[in-house]
Amino acid sequence: MAGEYKLLLEGAKELVLVCTQGEKYLLEAGMQHLAVLENASVVIGKDGYIKAAGDAKIIRNQFSGASFEKTIDCSGKCILPGLVDAHTHPVWAGDRVHEFSMKLAGASYMDIHQVGGGIHFTVRHTQEAPEDELFQRFKQRLLRMMRAGTTLVECKSGYGLNLETEIKMLRVIERARRELDIGISSTYCGAHSVPKGKTATEAADDIINFHLPKLKELELNGEIHVDNIDVFCEKGVFDLNSTRRILQAGKDKGLQINFHGDELHPMHSAELGAELEAKAVSHLEEISNEGITAMARAKCAAVLLPTTAYILRLKQPQARKMLEEGVIVALGSDFNPNAYCCSMPMVMHLACVNMKMSMKEALAAATINAAYALGKSHSHGSIEIGKQGDLFIINSPRYSLFFHSNSSYTVVTIIFHE
Ligand SMILES: [Zn+2]
Repeated sequence: MAGEYKLLLEGAKELVLVCTQGEKYLLEAGMQHLAVLENASVVIGKDGYIKAAGDAKIIRNQFSGASFEKTIDCSGKCILPGLVDAHTHPVWAGDRVHEFSMKLAGASYMDIHQVGGGIHFTVRHTQEAPEDELFQRFKQRLLRMMRAGTTLVECKSGYGLNLETEIKMLRVIERARRELDIGISSTYCGAHSVPKGKTATEAADDIINFHLPKLKELELNGEIHVDNIDVFCEKGVFDLNSTRRILQAGKDKGLQINFHGDELHPMHSAELGAELEAKAVSHLEEISNEGITAMARAKCAAVLLPTTAYILRLKQPQARKMLEEGVIVALGSDFNPNAYCCSMPMVMHLACVNMKMSMKEALAAATINAAYALGKSHSHGSIEIGKQGDLFIINSPRYSLFFHSNSSYTVVTIIFHE
């Protein structure tokens, strides 16, 4: 095949495609048979999309007359699809290391919340921070994520709570989308906490009557772009009814639903997610049996967050039961001031050790299924012809070494803009 191409990744020891049939997600059975080729190559076109992925000899013959802007010799190395982080809170100012010592002394998440710590501490600092300072901090975090192999990340607002600061955060996210290579799925999470002096119902009214119409206006002006809507559905935060009202209003404005549910208390959030046809519900440490059945039936992804259960010493989400019952399981880092983890490989490692997922399951959950949770599995989450050329190379002959926290490997992340 003649013609000009951007990149040839040649002769990888292992090429992890994940899937090959355009699957939008993988259930438990499919996760056991991830597509992995040996001695294989990938071709990326000038438009940044994958043009070929397969046996190295066949590709060499097929593209013998072609020219490439760049060729990378991948012998002895592995190529994997870029990792997708389906849940982060990466825009904020003010660190919370002082709370870590409180937690080590036995304070719970809600103990800290009630003495003005937790989200409220971050909200105060984020409200006061200049927009450029917020961006610079956010940018450093995104670069660290990219260095660990993440090529698409969901980024939430939610440390503003008032409209002005929520918009400031969404503008910061928009700037990163335009200036950096990493892919971003932007989430409005104005219902992350109830602002002081308001009830959950009053806060929901503000969001529905003022925040969402303003965001729509800014979207139409081309100032920001928001993909998803999120609510912290939790006892003492937003009850089920306020959560339903906010999510439905967001959906009516064209946003995908992707929200925090059943984390600290059973709230029937999973059932609500299924009812509203949410793309995903995150956390789910306290999901009910009925919730598992409802999510499986509705094809609503469960975004599990191993760092949260680890740092808050919560019970682990029932990953095995969800997989067995046919739920689409995805992973996210839950990066936030309280769980400072930029590394999806670390998240996958924790999912294996603490949530009893296999390495293949964790990899599918951090690629194709996380992409599905963001409505992006048509373009991300596997190495298939026609998808965006987002991938990473590790200097190891077996991709499974990637899961072993003691293994030393370096990551080269390659991302092309849409
Ligand atoms: Zn979260």
